[in-house]
Amino acid sequence: MSNDPSHGDPSYSANAPQGSGPSHNGPLYLEPRLAPRTAALLASPALLHTLVDALGSPLNVILPDQIADNVRAFRAVFARHRLSGRIFYAHKANRSSALVRRLTTTGAALDAASLTELRHALGSGFTGAEVMATGPKDPEFLWLAARSGTLVNADGPDELERAAALVRAHGLPRLRVLVRLSGFEAPGARRLSRRSRFGTSVKSLHQLLEVLDRHRAHLEPVGVGYHLDTTSVEEKAAALEGCLHAMEELQVRGFHPEAVDVGGGFGVSYLAHAAQWERYTTELTRAVAGARPPLAWGGHGYGLRAENGTLRGALGLYPAHRPTAGPGYLDELLSHPAPGLGRPLGTLLLEGLHQLYAEPGRALADQCGLTLGKVLEVRASDSGGPPLVRLAMNAGDVALEDHGVLVDPVVLPRPPVPAAAGAPVAVHLMGNLCLEADLITRRAVFLPRLPRPGDLLAFANTAGYCMDFGATRAQGQPLARKVAVHREGDGDWQWCLDEQYWPLTRTGEAQG
Ligand SMILES: *Cc1c(COP(=O)(O)O)cnc(C)c1O
Repeated sequence: MSNDPSHGDPSYSANAPQGSGPSHNGPLYLEPRLAPRTAALLASPALLHTLVDALGSPLNVILPDQIADNVRAFRAVFARHRLSGRIFYAHKANRSSALVRRLTTTGAALDAASLTELRHALGSGFTGAEVMATGPKDPEFLWLAARSGTLVNADGPDELERAAALVRAHGLPRLRVLVRLSGFEAPGARRLSRRSRFGTSVKSLHQLLEVLDRHRAHLEPVGVGYHLDTTSVEEKAAALEGCLHAMEELQVRGFHPEAVDVGGGFGVSYLAHAAQWERYTTELTRAVAGARPPLAWGGHGYGLRAENGTLRGALGLYPAHRPTAGPGYLDELLSHPAPGLGRPLGTLLLEGLHQLYAEPGRALADQCGLTLGKVLEVRASDSGGPPLVRLAMNAGDVALEDHGVLVDPVVLPRPPVPAAAGAPVAVHLMGNLCLEADLITRRAVFLPRLPRPGDLLAFANTAGYCMDFGATRAQGQPLARKVAVHREGDGDWQWCLDEQYWPLTRTGEAQG
């Protein structure tokens, strides 16, 4: 299959002697963080096996009630800072209907980034006023957004012109717009925030104001915002402060903006244990440096490489264990001093009487679903390396690694489960495509026991981007079906196809 040098190496096995120090022995687990609802579902393996037997592998399982809990957690942060505003779920994180429909009952709003997402939101029960249209917009998307009265998060002056023209041509009510800014600069430091293809540079704000001024009859600016794809609180703090200044500029021009939109990117912590993450990344670095045998297929280093004995590059991985993520990250941002004004950003928003808008995608989808793959074959490696475990799924079906997220799957053995405990083992997870590159994970994954054909591997916490964002029908392999599961209290799990889910009881009453 490959002449990968890592293959001849027995030290993947937890039991293999290493000789290079005690800290490097034993399995390098990266155990997933499991919220109580996810843990409870994984504790019901019979149900999960039945679902895969009936609906095939891969299978995506959605937990719609979790997103309601996540909305509550974000809202608590707003309350803590005494801010009013809105939480817009960034729909692009997942195509699930159950999640979108469940959201309609939570008071949250939705961020639609395409015509299809906007239609989905409207058809799921959101009103136009509860939706924000973001991203660059094709004419049909912009038309339906204007027509249905969504808030248009404008990427630039051209989009504002086109929106105004639509409103005029079709005699629509004044359209609420928010302008997306980018290219913020922290005062003092000459460090620009990272370049973005989206939004308009704050330096060109005057251009946006000129367009807005000309179209007062058709456009109503309700605020300004940003979305930065970074984990850096400093960068976001500079952007938020930049937005506060932009709000003043709008007021000076006689507009009455009311909201600052801090975008998404609050992140998720995927791992249960910080220590496992530290240890894994340390050992990965050592492996690339040649101080221990490779940890990944073909000696892949996730961005690190050794050149003539020197370690180069940087780990290009998502920080899979994060001490602060999601609502906690928003809390941190709001408590952070504005780089120029010095006072906490939350306080400045409050004193400016501004509402806060946020657009979490990944963080609202946290623990909202998992992906199941069935083990088809377990084969010893030709060269004595980790056994190859072939799954009825491919890398596009569970795109954790595509997003740089390293986290172990949970093994759900097919009953009857063997009485013997089994020993920890490293394996390579192979996908179902005839493609050398179709590895579910490029690294060897340590599991508490060798799986057997028929077992399920459960990839926890895939709802944010890792479930259906990049899934394809390559080679005619099936796209994963999606089921929604929920239960009242500690009652039995109920399930239905994702598209059959509505936030109603089986007799048609509103769900509690
Ligand atoms: C993708 C996106 C988001 C969501 O980002 P997350 O990292 O998933 O929170 C929010 N706003 C905009 C404009 C986006 O493009």
